[in-house]
Amino acid sequence: MTNPLSTTEIAQQLIRAGSEIVDSGLALASAGNLSIRLDDDHFMVTASGTWLNRLDRTSFSIMDLAGDVVEGADKPSSEWKLHQRAYLARPDIGSVVHVHPAHAILLDALGHPVRLVTLDHAYYVGSIGRTPYHPNGSDELADTAAEQLAEHNCVIMGNHGSTTVGDDCDMALRRALNLENAAELTYRALLAGNGDLEFPWGSEPHLHHA
Ligand SMILES: [Zn+2]
Repeated sequence: MTNPLSTTEIAQQLIRAGSEIVDSGLALASAGNLSIRLDDDHFMVTASGTWLNRLDRTSFSIMDLAGDVVEGADKPSSEWKLHQRAYLARPDIGSVVHVHPAHAILLDALGHPVRLVTLDHAYYVGSIGRTPYHPNGSDELADTAAEQLAEHNCVIMGNHGSTTVGDDCDMALRRALNLENAAELTYRALLAGNGDLEFPWGSEPHLHHA
């Protein structure tokens, strides 16, 4: 699959997504990293040390799926392996969003599964994988997340963050937002004494809007 957008347009999508992520509280300061696939063998990823709400044209590296930087910033995000392994595991996806959503991380650390409450959660999130804690930037972190991404579009990485994928950056971002919203509602449900909410699956959820 080759992205029909130019690298300038792809960078613009990442810049916009980065500021939306910080505005919505999914990542603080320089936490989190994003990428968009360019073609079967390349992706553009945020560079090391970038703040997601301060991205500009110089904030990106273009890498191949072997893990080499071929253009742009010399030092990609410390989590570049997460993106590389996700694209290798999911030839169908066009974007990877990795952020640090507070409620999703907290619930997972407390041993509670995130419950899907609304139609949006069911439609965008669908199912959630998880991985145990592994150090930032490690092969183990990237490989275990990719294993889960083979089966789920949303993965919580223990004591660390979430990784969501989609056809494009907007979908990966919507999934991250809905995962965190589901976690927040699950947290409130637990406070209200209900820990076992279930979405009323039965037929495939379809959105009447959007
Ligand atoms: Zn992270």
